[in-house]
Amino acid sequence: MARIGESATLRVTRRAAELKARGIELADFGAGEPDFASPPVAVEAARRALACGFTKYTPGSGIPELREAIAASWRERHGAPWKTAESVITVGGKAALFELALALFDEGQEVVLPTPCWVSFPEQIRFAGAVPVGVPTSGEDGFRVHADALLAAVTERTRAILLNSPSNPTGGVIGEEDLREVVAFAARRGLLVVSDETYERFVYDGEQHASAAALAAEFPETVVLVGSFSKTYAMTGWRIGYALGPLPVIRAVEQVQSHATSNPTSFSMIGALSALREAEPEVATMIAAYEERRNFLIPRLAALPGFECRPPAGTFYAFPRVAGAYRRGRQGSGAFTEFLLEEARVAVVPGEAFGSDEHIRISFACSLETLALGLERMAAVLAD
Ligand code: PMP
Repeated sequence: MARIGESATLRVTRRAAELKARGIELADFGAGEPDFASPPVAVEAARRALACGFTKYTPGSGIPELREAIAASWRERHGAPWKTAESVITVGGKAALFELALALFDEGQEVVLPTPCWVSFPEQIRFAGAVPVGVPTSGEDGFRVHADALLAAVTERTRAILLNSPSNPTGGVIGEEDLREVVAFAARRGLLVVSDETYERFVYDGEQHASAAALAAEFPETVVLVGSFSKTYAMTGWRIGYALGPLPVIRAVEQVQSHATSNPTSFSMIGALSALREAEPEVATMIAAYEERRNFLIPRLAALPGFECRPPAGTFYAFPRVAGAYRRGRQGSGAFTEFLLEEARVAVVPGEAFGSDEHIRISFACSLETLALGLERMAAVLAD
């Protein structure tokens, strides 16, 4: 456990909860989850499953109908080669990533990944005994991932390259050409590319999501894809995610899972199957809402004193550089976050949690009214 850091966001989360419990109304930009309800079709399907007694263990890798439906979705949308056997359903995308780390990474091996990155990536890698090797991306070009910088960090100890496009927290993406370069290089060197595409549907300005799934037919032994129902369908609490990839890798994940969680929750899988088949209208509505909020938020955020911010290509997070607003007593993203919480009643996540002390993460998975309120409050405390 000494290898694993405590989450830097915990203190802020705790303090925000305290303030809320005292009846203080926060403009809460902290949550990494959609503010929308889960699709009614999913709720209804899960309700029916419960009523029919679909409440027992299922096969450890999940119900075959959902495994096949997920594999089919990636085949149809991106030409991926995966079939039912090459898919495993997990307890959220987080479990898929954790089980992959445990199954694939050994003591002393390195995993190369762009930073700033999601809090759990480095810790999961360390948990497995391996070493995360971060390659910084820059806000100046919207935190895009460049193949040359990433591949320069590969050594003879590298086991895998871990991508997360669009990225939590930066909203940055990797373009099709860079992605191809990374995957082709990894294939030549016998490395894996684990591609966490949890936010795949949330890309804006007409940009097309570049999916590693589109390269899996050409590089079948290299590409491992992780996906989730949490963000796409606003189903965070249902805990359904998955991994798709080469059969030996998926088998290894199944093996770990068989000793960790057993199957994902039976009736959650029934709800997820309905969401996948029938909730596309809701998904389209949510994407349009996030895009509208993003277009409202970003220019106003960039106009705050000391803030620098470009529109994120994807996700529902803004990741402004705020070091220009640091003053005595609010140096560093942790102190600045506390300042915003105490003085402005605005909750954000400090960038240090993701590997940059010059930034904060603002979730725009909240109403336009909340965004307007938070912006107004921040403008008031930053003016002096
Ligand atoms: N990957 C990324 C980048 C995430 O941000 C998250 C959730 N915050 C996950 C994976 C896992 O999500 P879940 O376990 O809910 O599917």
